[in-house]
Amino acid sequence: MSNHLLEVKNLRTHFASGGGIVQAVRGVDIHVDAGEFLGIVGESGCGKSVTMMSIMRLLAENAAVKADSLVFDGRDILSQSEKTMRSIRGNEIGMIFQDPMTSLNPLFTVGNQMMEHLRLHKNMTKEQAKARAIEMLTTVGINEPEKRLKQYPHEMSGGMRQRVMIAIAMCCNPKILIADEPTTALDVTIQAQIMELMEDLKNNFSTAVILITHDLGVIARSCSRVIVMYGGLIMEEGSVEQIFYEPAHPYTEGLLRSVPRHGIEEEDSESQDKGGEAQTVERQREKLIPIPGSPPDLMNPPAGCPFAARCEKAMKICKMAPAQLTEVGEGHRSACWLLHSQAPGKDRER
Ligand code: SF4
Repeated sequence: MSNHLLEVKNLRTHFASGGGIVQAVRGVDIHVDAGEFLGIVGESGCGKSVTMMSIMRLLAENAAVKADSLVFDGRDILSQSEKTMRSIRGNEIGMIFQDPMTSLNPLFTVGNQMMEHLRLHKNMTKEQAKARAIEMLTTVGINEPEKRLKQYPHEMSGGMRQRVMIAIAMCCNPKILIADEPTTALDVTIQAQIMELMEDLKNNFSTAVILITHDLGVIARSCSRVIVMYGGLIMEEGSVEQIFYEPAHPYTEGLLRSVPRHGIEEEDSESQDKGGEAQTVERQREKLIPIPGSPPDLMNPPAGCPFAARCEKAMKICKMAPAQLTEVGEGHRSACWLLHSQAPGKDRER
């Protein structure tokens, strides 16, 4: 039995569409422990959100989800009834999404929605639910919580709505909070406040947080461990330091070259000496280089490495078979043929 809070082995998710089968997730292993802040990063369409929606069993009927094992807190998720899953979602696993307006009902007040959630999942009386709602709005930094309970979502700013979503997701003390691009629609100041809030919740309540994002700056700020996805597969995983300072996969290197490094450098700058400061300035002068090309068509995924068509280091072997994830350091794994010195066909194609 797994010691991890959540452990997924060989997750595969396919969608039936008019044009064929989309192989959105093609064999992914993920685990998360209590109190851990895990980041899953990759471009749009890499499979990161579908992976989480598969775990939560929240996909539409045209999706087929298979896994060798999918265990949350000692229970096999795939064999649970829909009734049990509804209880797990919201009660034990909280979720927040990019746009709170898709999750909040515009026809009901914030208080009504929070209290309904608590009465449904925690069997509270009206008075208990109201007291808990006020407590949670205070926890997420909302002033005048009693007044806010009477407001409708459209009467609040985007940042406040996202705080309300976090309050709803956290009010039942979930073991895991899954946050899918939670700050993408917000301005930079509010983004920082929301990330700080999630860090506080993790620290104060030992909630595991899984943050799904395309933004490496957000990852650098909050996460302890990072998974890099591409083409429905994991390309690399490791600690935030390993991923940012010792990337072992050309796709990760490409992602790092394509984003401003301010957030990353700020994380490191406190511990830097004068020489380090000079290095920081030098790095900030580096030009941002987008990764040319586009992600693979997952209706016809490539036989080899999914990144081969965009990789300047691609070799013949890369187009023949995908490289397996290989240990390159403690807790650091990468799926790249460059790590296999004896690989057949390991000669440069271009
Ligand atoms: Fe590039 Fe080959 Fe490594 Fe893929 S396996 S990232 S194509 S070098």
